[in-house]
Amino acid sequence: MTAASEGGSPPSDGDQVLPFQLDALGVRGRLVRLGRALDAIIERHGYPLAVARPLAEAMVLCATLATSLKYDGIFTLQISGDGPIRLLVTDLTTDGALRGYAQFDSWKLAVALGAGNSDAPDGYVPKLFGQGRLAFTVDQGRHTERYQGVVPLEGPTLADCAHTYFRQSEQLPTGIKITARRIVENGTPHWRAAALMVQQMPEFDAGRMHVDAEQREDDWRKAVILMASATEAEMLDPNLPAPRLLYRLFHQEEPRVFERRPFAARCRCSRGRIDRVLRSIKRDELDDLRDSSGRVSVKCEFCSTEYAYDDGDLDRIYASAA
Ligand SMILES: [Zn+2]
Repeated sequence: MTAASEGGSPPSDGDQVLPFQLDALGVRGRLVRLGRALDAIIERHGYPLAVARPLAEAMVLCATLATSLKYDGIFTLQISGDGPIRLLVTDLTTDGALRGYAQFDSWKLAVALGAGNSDAPDGYVPKLFGQGRLAFTVDQGRHTERYQGVVPLEGPTLADCAHTYFRQSEQLPTGIKITARRIVENGTPHWRAAALMVQQMPEFDAGRMHVDAEQREDDWRKAVILMASATEAEMLDPNLPAPRLLYRLFHQEEPRVFERRPFAARCRCSRGRIDRVLRSIKRDELDDLRDSSGRVSVKCEFCSTEYAYDDGDLDRIYASAA
């Protein structure tokens, strides 16, 4: 199965996670980078800069958290608030299909940014999302329990919000750095996003039972300082391969890198899924969804694909439900 055959963009070198471990410090981490997948998703929607950058950062955060968990299914990150961006949803499947969308109010957005500004300011969370919450869900199928974590939006950046989540939900100290920009390569603008995460390993897993608490604390602090020393430019640089960036940051700790996993922009919507959604609604309630030609038209928010149903199609759907 290839991504291209399903209408998505092919995976590129820029769309992947590279897990690593710093044995000397008892720390594991990952470097996640997104490139072409972002271009595919953002361009399809034509989002303004100030919506595109938060979406790009949220997508790289989603990919970072999702690939830190052992699950088989769908990891979803959702941000909702009372600001200009009402809702932002992004999800990643275990096999690397990534998608995302945002709902926003153009007027509120223009007011929040102020005259002459089109990009999201640094520390945009309060301004663009307002009061709200950040939620994570892991869905592993019909017969398993859903895992959900919810934290209020606290702090100026999405990384700050993620830190609140780590503090509240994880026993292991975790640090994350996130960045996203539209950069011009060879005269063409492209989106790039990157996240670096480090996490203290449980003593047993790290094989460091002999290390005392003070040393562990020093080692952890060192890992965070080295992670934080990464510049935005090098995190986003398409010409700086991920292993080389890790080596640049952590060479004294001799980082051990693991198999990288690719992502690709790919939506999971299909006519069959929309059929099931429609079937769950009473047929006469579908009248609100009819367009000028009388057909029921449903648009996938993630990829903007339109699914149209005439009365013959609806007869078929409701007959198969009986
Ligand atoms: Zn779709």
